Amino acid sequence: MLNVKRIREDFPVLQRKVYGKPLVYLDNAATSQKPRQVIEALREYYESYNANVHRAVHALGMEATDRYEAARRKVSQFIGAPNPECIVFTRNTTEALNLVSYAWAQHHLGPGDEVLTTRMEHHSNLVPWQRACQERGATLKFIPHAEDGCLDLSGLDSLITERTKLVTVTHMSNVLGTINPVGLIARQAHARGAVVVVDGAQSVPHLPVNVQELDCDFLAFSAHKMLGPTGIGVLYIRPEITDQLEPFLRGGEMVREVWYDHATWNDMPYRFEAGTPNIADAIAFGAAIDYLSALGMEQVRQHEMALTSYALKRFRELEEVQVFGPGDVTVRGGVVSFHHPQVHPHDLGTFLDREGVAIRAGHHCAMPLVRSLGVVATARASFYLYNTEEEVDVLIAALQKATRYFARATERVTQAKRA
Ligand code: PMP
Repeated sequence: MLNVKRIREDFPVLQRKVYGKPLVYLDNAATSQKPRQVIEALREYYESYNANVHRAVHALGMEATDRYEAARRKVSQFIGAPNPECIVFTRNTTEALNLVSYAWAQHHLGPGDEVLTTRMEHHSNLVPWQRACQERGATLKFIPHAEDGCLDLSGLDSLITERTKLVTVTHMSNVLGTINPVGLIARQAHARGAVVVVDGAQSVPHLPVNVQELDCDFLAFSAHKMLGPTGIGVLYIRPEITDQLEPFLRGGEMVREVWYDHATWNDMPYRFEAGTPNIADAIAFGAAIDYLSALGMEQVRQHEMALTSYALKRFRELEEVQVFGPGDVTVRGGVVSFHHPQVHPHDLGTFLDREGVAIRAGHHCAMPLVRSLGVVATARASFYLYNTEEEVDVLIAALQKATRYFARATERVTQAKRA
């Protein structure tokens, strides 16, 4: 079991108050808070060995290079990659997914080909494929999901055809919380010769993830959702597929030799890291991975499963509130999207903020999905390793207070109209 009380002491921001109330931070699906160890790694880099990587012959440059490459090794081990050369540092998940679309899809999709995805993707795993398909004359197809938010794989056999060139699926939905059986989908896709992309933005921070078990060709995720800094993300590339990729961004570092009229490409992973990389944030990301690895991802998952179970139970007490996504926490992460029939999600978010509770309200960058739920927006509470049952209680109490407040307000308006 995680010692959450002890863990919370590592997160300076969790000690602060908002409007005089203790902060209850439940917006972890958007970005997580950072432990002292990560903040310290950033400070240490800038104070003691700030230098550019790979090209320097001086001590600072070599130290920065060692730490930057050590961070890559940590990421590689964290997701069970065969070697660190499979890890490309990007800005975030969005850039990693765009990299696949420019470096692979642009060169391998043709008229009549198909890209298969789901109807629960974040915009960053939908819009790049819309563009790729439009430009290459390919068709974007969707795996449907049932009302409980679980993918309906009954028709997968006919959805994946010999025309399917790429299958891309979110490992965990940032709206429904659904954890998708990506390994199973990947095996069927590979059997038909398709390439498999996994959006791990919500899964890698919260579950043990192993790329060999997932059997994916690409896995994209962001450091900022897993205790690390903003501005650094990862694209895992299966070694066997590297030769099918063309460079995405071109310039310094990604080349081996350059002439006036042409150039040759550097080895992996530098071929996809053009220009000066985000050195400080990559190193601090390494510190975040050390932190998570010391706790153990299985422990993190167990904690969040218990917390989500508790939250779903408490939500059932709010009869008027509709909760989206699977009821079974073995196929659901710590994301709870909900809808209050009388209160707009933004009003709810603002009201809860005054109670110290940070949640998110909106379409969560998944407009088509939220639209399909029959609402314009949802409110979303999302948990991480430092959240507690007491915080869930504060959330529920604040929601009950909001219900009473908005009911009274509606009553006053009705009376005023009658008068
Ligand atoms: N995919 C999913 C499932 C997400 O939740 C997010 C972030 N909300 C992204 C992709 C995009 O991540 P980033 O903004 O870090 O690029």
